[in-house]
Amino acid sequence: MADKRLKDKIAVVTGGASGIGKATAIRFAQHGAAVYILDLTPENLAETKQEIESIGGTAAVIQCDVSNPGLVEESINRIGGENGRIDVIFANAGINGTMAPIETLEMDDWDQTIHTNLRSTFATVKYAIPYMKENGGSMIITSSINGNRVFSNIGASAYSTSKAGQTAFMKMAALELAQYAIRVNAVCPGSIDTNIGKNTYKSEELEEVQIPVEFPDGNHPLEQAPGKPEQVANLVLFLASDESFHVTGTEIFVDGAESLLRG
Ligand code: NAD
Repeated sequence: MADKRLKDKIAVVTGGASGIGKATAIRFAQHGAAVYILDLTPENLAETKQEIESIGGTAAVIQCDVSNPGLVEESINRIGGENGRIDVIFANAGINGTMAPIETLEMDDWDQTIHTNLRSTFATVKYAIPYMKENGGSMIITSSINGNRVFSNIGASAYSTSKAGQTAFMKMAALELAQYAIRVNAVCPGSIDTNIGKNTYKSEELEEVQIPVEFPDGNHPLEQAPGKPEQVANLVLFLASDESFHVTGTEIFVDGAESLLRG
C-alpha cells in the first residue's frame, strides 16, 4: 500500500484480536504502524499476529486482561520501554456483559462491565501518558451509540453507563492533554458485525422489564444491514493519523444513522 499514514508509528490496540480492534490493528499495520495488540486469548492473538505478518505488517501481541489495571500498566510500560515512546492508543476492549433488570443486576456483574469497559479506558490512557507527552499522539476510545444517543436497550444499564462514562472521560482527557499535543477522541459505532455476542449474558428476569419498542422497518437506514468492523477501522485510522490533527475532544458516530432512528 503506497499510502502509509502511520509510517513508523507505535500503536497499541486493546481488544485487538477480534472484531473492531482486529480490523483496526490490520488497518494500522497496512499503513506502516508497528502494532501492539492486547487481548485475552493467546489463540486469537496468535492468529491476528499471523494475519498481519502475512500482509507484510509488524505486530506484537501481549496477553492482558484490561480489567486488571496492574496488567495494563505492565503491558504499557513494556511497550513504552521497548520503543521509548507510544504514538497511538486505541482503547477498544469491551464486553456487553450481563444484561439484567437494575433490581436484580448483581454488584459483581455491574463491576465487571464497568471495569472491563470504563476503568480499563482510564488505565490505558493514564499509563500511556508518560510515553506520549514528549512527542504528542492520538488516543481513540471505542464508546457506542448506547449511552450517548440510544437509551432503549433495556437491561444494558451497566453497558450504557460505561459507554457514557467513556465519552465524558474522553472530553476531560482531551482538554487536559492538549498541552502535550495528545489528541483524544471517541468512536461511537452502531451495531457492527463482530463476536461481541459471545460476551453478552442475558438474565432470565430481563423479559419482565422489557418495554416493547417497535424499531422502524429498515432500522439501518443507510445500508439496510449492520456495519462492518472495517468501516469503524477506517474512521479510527483517520483519527489516529495527522490528517485529523485539529480534531480532539469529540465523539463521532459510525452507525449509518441507526441511532437517529432508535434514540
Ligand atoms: P469483539 O468481542 O469481537 O471484540 C472485543 C475484543 O475485546 C475481544 O477480542 C475480547 O477478547 C476483548 N476483550 C474483552 N474483554 C477483555 C479484557 N478484559 N481484556 C482484554 N481484552 C478483552 O467485539 P467488538 O464488537 O469488536 O467490540 C469492540 C468494542 O466495540 C467494545 O468496546 C464494544 O463495546 C464496542 N462496540 C461494539 C459494537 C458492536 O455492535 N459490535 C457497537 C458499539 C460499540
